[in-house]
Amino acid sequence: MIARLLGLPDTPAVMFLVFAGGGMLYFFSLASISYFLYFKKFKSRFHPTYELDRTEMKSAIKWVIIGIVGNGLLMLPIHLLIAKNYSKMYYDVADHGWAWMFGQVAVLLVFTETLIYWTHWAFHKSPFLWKYVHERHHKYRVPQPYSALSFNPMDSFLQAVPHHIAAFFFPVHAGIYVASVTFVTLWAVCIHDRVSFVRWPWLNYTDHHTLHHWYSDFNLGQYFTFWDRLVGTYRSPAIDYEDVPPGIIYRPHGAQPRSTAPSALASGGAQPAE
Ligand SMILES: [Zn+2]
Ligand SMILES: [Zn+2]
Repeated sequence: MIARLLGLPDTPAVMFLVFAGGGMLYFFSLASISYFLYFKKFKSRFHPTYELDRTEMKSAIKWVIIGIVGNGLLMLPIHLLIAKNYSKMYYDVADHGWAWMFGQVAVLLVFTETLIYWTHWAFHKSPFLWKYVHERHHKYRVPQPYSALSFNPMDSFLQAVPHHIAAFFFPVHAGIYVASVTFVTLWAVCIHDRVSFVRWPWLNYTDHHTLHHWYSDFNLGQYFTFWDRLVGTYRSPAIDYEDVPPGIIYRPHGAQPRSTAPSALASGGAQPAE
């Protein structure tokens, strides 16, 4: 557990403070760095058409705080069970060897990717879950770094919980657990800043998530696009869609879209192979 790894007592109050307080400090540091670089200092290069909407920004930050505090409370029973050794979390590499140290990363990726895809899919398909759980995150049709964790607490809990319950299904080293929750927060900021440096189409890179916010029902994966491709919810950001205004999807200087299409909504699920 994070508190134990830091040498702190595993009491509920300490666990909540470490998870929610540390999480907030970490998230706001990452989001602020990203915002400063892409939306202020190098705005003319990355987001020349961006204009700050103060009302939307205040709302995004308010819901980040509500989301992280609520998620910390909802996650507490799971953290307590882990601290009391009800899960298969372990602390000594020798317990399961080095092969499993690397093997568990692959298993964890498949486990979280699958649960998060289908949870996210249910949020978009169920009118109840959409209205009462997920719609808050889609108030930001054009995302920026602070909208990354702007969630109804139940939404952030349900989308984060696969990372936290994995250790109840297979052995997870505490260091891998901390790395996975740390990395997924960094990833969340990266896919909301609308700047893509890596464009491997099987990776759910930033432009995929920009399209997710614009159209809502496409590109529902976490790190990868394989579930979206299998289910038919994939839309390629390499295409310029005529109903996505210029500047929403970041195109590096000189980069050209692969092709143009009237709208991702009209392309009926089939997308050309990349
Ligand atoms: Zn988002
Ligand atoms: Zn969504």
